[in-house]
Amino acid sequence: MIPMVYLDHSATTPLDPEVLEAMMPYLTEEFGNASSVYGLGQRARQAIDQARDEVADFYGVAAKEVIFTSGGTEGDNFAFQGIARRNGDRGRHVITSTIEHDAVLRSAEALERDGFEVTRLRVDRFGLVDPDALRQALRSDTILVSIMHANNEIGTIEPIRELAAVTREHSDAYFHTDAVQSTGKIATTVDELGVDLLTMSAHKLHGPKGVGCLVVRSGVRLTPQMLGGGHERNRRAGTENVAGIAGLARAVGIARRDLEANTAHLTRLRDRLIEGVLNRIPHAALTGHPKQRLPHHASFLFEGVEGESLLLQLDMEGIAASSGSACTSGSLEPSHVILAIGHPRDRALGSLRLSVGKGNTDADIDLVLERLPQMVARLRAMAPISAA
Ligand code: PLP
Repeated sequence: MIPMVYLDHSATTPLDPEVLEAMMPYLTEEFGNASSVYGLGQRARQAIDQARDEVADFYGVAAKEVIFTSGGTEGDNFAFQGIARRNGDRGRHVITSTIEHDAVLRSAEALERDGFEVTRLRVDRFGLVDPDALRQALRSDTILVSIMHANNEIGTIEPIRELAAVTREHSDAYFHTDAVQSTGKIATTVDELGVDLLTMSAHKLHGPKGVGCLVVRSGVRLTPQMLGGGHERNRRAGTENVAGIAGLARAVGIARRDLEANTAHLTRLRDRLIEGVLNRIPHAALTGHPKQRLPHHASFLFEGVEGESLLLQLDMEGIAASSGSACTSGSLEPSHVILAIGHPRDRALGSLRLSVGKGNTDADIDLVLERLPQMVARLRAMAPISAA
């Protein structure tokens, strides 16, 4: 079998063995329901309480401000629906950006169907949201602004602190940020960001899939979406995913402990990739911001090549990567993010994302830098349209 070079850490990450170790008891002998009164249940409750303290400490918030969820998609949906349902009497206007994850974009569309008005802020060619544009879009009936902390496809880090400050200064709207990609990569607290709500997901930082949290600052009015028992202080019903929650807490703990070393390692590999690709491949361009970007994230556009074909070639060499394009009903659709930063449809199809992780080595980067130029050249030779 070809050795696997995994360069898709923005899609998901391998479980850290320390995380697995923290989860194991709750997948085996400590299987209790945290709502049960006997010892087995109470030990599960203690594990959740401890995890909540650790996650709260990580974000610099109070434990009661952490609501465990099933991940990023739920967190984004919860923020939109929860705020809209509870605050619809104050106003029916919501602001987001054109480059958000589908979990946010689809949530915004759902609100439109319910009679809310949505403003989608455009971004510049690097994918940045302009605080002035936000200032102009805010209205007296705006109840929610949702701008992602860092973009999954182009790696750009948004000026959340500034955007949240503008929102606070000019409106009564709540500010939500999708921090699924940034958590564990950029050292920050919720106070530093100045946001009211924050969504995260454990599987992007070597935690398990299907678990995350929504941080909700106290005082924020939010209607629960999952109805049932009184779990999560009546805000999110459902028997707690004890193992997942224990894993999530361990994952953020490790991310914080190793942040400095990881950032140095990831940034170095990322910069080698970016420099190598741009130097070796003609008509290649970096997408996203050259500096204000996630430390592990490299994304490109190759003229005259379809990113999807490149993915298949990479896969044959044992290299896992991603392109933002999606195959919808038989035809290839370019990523909405690449279109939003101003590229025409044809060019947007040539996108490739390489996202490194702590397990990657220089040898992995060497392999990509050796193989990728040949693949791009081969595909261009086969393509009917020339790159130049
Ligand atoms: N938001 C962003 C920015 C993401 O990158 C993702 C996952 O790709 C999500 C939300 C959804 O998170 P989850 O996979 O935990 O549902």
